[in-house]
Amino acid sequence: MTHCDTLIIGQGLAGSILAYTLERLGQRVVIVDDGLRSSASKVAAGLINPVTGQRFVKAPDSDAQLAAAGAFYGHLAQRFGVTLFHPLPMLRLLRDEREAQRCRKRLEDPAYGGYLGPLTDAAEGIRGAHGVCRQHHTGYLDTGMLLATLGRHFRQQGRLITGRFAYAALRLGEAGVEWEGIRAARVVFCEGYKGMENPFFPHLAFQPSKGEILSLEIEGRLPWAILNDGQWLMPRHDGGYRLGASYHREPLDETLTDSARSALLDALPRLLGYTPEFTLTNQAAGVRPNTRPKTPFAEWHPRHPRLAIFNGFGSRGSLLIPWHARRFAMNPGLPVAASCPATG
Ligand SMILES: Cc1cc2nc3c(=O)[nH]c(=O)nc-3n(C[C@H](O)[C@H](O)[C@H](O)COP(=O)(O)OP(=O)(O)OC[C@H]3O[C@@H](n4cnc5c(N)ncnc54)[C@H](O)[C@@H]3O)c2cc1C
Repeated sequence: MTHCDTLIIGQGLAGSILAYTLERLGQRVVIVDDGLRSSASKVAAGLINPVTGQRFVKAPDSDAQLAAAGAFYGHLAQRFGVTLFHPLPMLRLLRDEREAQRCRKRLEDPAYGGYLGPLTDAAEGIRGAHGVCRQHHTGYLDTGMLLATLGRHFRQQGRLITGRFAYAALRLGEAGVEWEGIRAARVVFCEGYKGMENPFFPHLAFQPSKGEILSLEIEGRLPWAILNDGQWLMPRHDGGYRLGASYHREPLDETLTDSARSALLDALPRLLGYTPEFTLTNQAAGVRPNTRPKTPFAEWHPRHPRLAIFNGFGSRGSLLIPWHARRFAMNPGLPVAASCPATG
């Protein structure tokens, strides 16, 4: 029998970051992951962008979320000798006058100081039909590197198990839970959009969306910035580019489609102002764990105090998860591990 404080289901960004956060607080964690090749975290571009959408909305907790993400990814970079976060400015190409007006309004708002501006006709040789607004505190997380780094870390300790978690095999007790030879004080579910099928949390309203994304090699010198007009083109540290992303409510699968590929490629000349020479090196699809209330689910089960969910980070896991993981891990409502004997 293996004993631990927290059994985590899923090693996407949510499960990985929560597991590491708990470990830093002194907990013993075990993670079970089924190794789905196209989990959202594996295909995501990892964009970090605190001011989003046509309305240029900055969530009230953005400052704290950026600080938490910076501290967390910076810590991992130092400890494991890898670069995870790549800062990159973003150029927002304004599509119509309404969008330009909304942007100007935000530029007058002190809460957006340091996040937006200036708004100009063109920037770095890129023109927007109604101007270009520079965004700051943006960049991308190398999600593949994060999953590989933390996966290796937990596997080396024998704390990452590859396998499918079968809900029916979970035994719930007063003092803790048991699953396939693992005894834990609690289980935290981080299964991404598969959380929809979790029988313990049927009351939570997931609203997942399928996304497809392309990897390209592009000839010539392009701005070292993310170009964004709703679709985006992002240069990567390895010299390649990501072009993304499609957004569909159904079907919820990982099938690659011709229609998404051509719609994404249509964005290239629009973003750049010309059609570049390029090679398509990859197409990938995944499903984002969006939620109907548009906020994550980081909560304890209403009746089973040993079960919790940490999920629903939608299209913004790279920015949101470190902050939510810390809040969740520090939650005084967390059942204590007193029932959990030493590792066996
Ligand atoms: C095309 C695309 C582009 C995106 N771009 C960005 C972006 O630029 N920036 C950004 O921040 N976010 C982006 N996202 C969203 C981002 O991917 C998510 O916010 C984040 O990855 C969610 O992580 P997660 O760990 O909750 O879910 P997942 O990554 O889906 O991880 C869940 C894990 O649980 C495992 N699992 C599920 N059920 C079980 C089970 N029963 N037993 C064992 N294991 C199980 C799965 O195999 C998987 O490994 C994008 C998503 C897509 C699809």
